[in-house]
Amino acid sequence: MHDHGIVQQAATRVKEAVPDLIVIVDTCLCEYTSHGHCGYLEVGDLTGRVLNDPTLELLKKTAVSQAQAGADIIAPSGMMDGFVQAIRSGLDAAGFQEIPIMSYAAKYASAYYGPFRDAADSAPQFGDRRTYQMDPGNGREALKEIHLDITEGADMLMVKPALAYMDIIWRVKEATQLPVAAYNVSGEYAMVKAAALNGWIDEERVVLETLLGFKRAGTDMI
Ligand SMILES: [Zn+2]
Repeated sequence: MHDHGIVQQAATRVKEAVPDLIVIVDTCLCEYTSHGHCGYLEVGDLTGRVLNDPTLELLKKTAVSQAQAGADIIAPSGMMDGFVQAIRSGLDAAGFQEIPIMSYAAKYASAYYGPFRDAADSAPQFGDRRTYQMDPGNGREALKEIHLDITEGADMLMVKPALAYMDIIWRVKEATQLPVAAYNVSGEYAMVKAAALNGWIDEERVVLETLLGFKRAGTDMI
């Protein structure tokens, strides 16, 4: 991690070009690790089990660096245990008490991330992210995770992906007063685009209906 990474540079340039635009940065490590996992691994460990606590220290530094670069909202996405609290304390200690944290509180181990991973070349080289992302069959775990994140100081909560998880968005919204964000991910977008290219759907109507569905489910931000 250094202060002139591509995300920091992008945050600075965007804020310079459009100062009123709110910049939300994704705070995770998987795009920077050689193995594609979201944190430190034990040397030689091929299971993909991330070393939680050392990873928290690195996440803290990353978030502070991103805030210094101009990020308005820090959005940690790795779902390490204790990540919201760690990042909150890091930001506060660095004088960024006013920077909110949008936690990827309910992030499922989803096949819908495929196109992004291809584009970012960030698919894990071994193992998978299921040791820290949630099982798509488990709805109640999302509620447990959001309550943990609220206790740790999250200001906004993210559900990811969105389309196949509308019930989770609804349940999270019912369970909290905090703003809820839905992450409409690359695979969801790709399906719409591919179908439109083939002339199978009316793209604009499908897009608007999908966005409306997110709002109906209780989403404050998409
Ligand atoms: Zn990650």
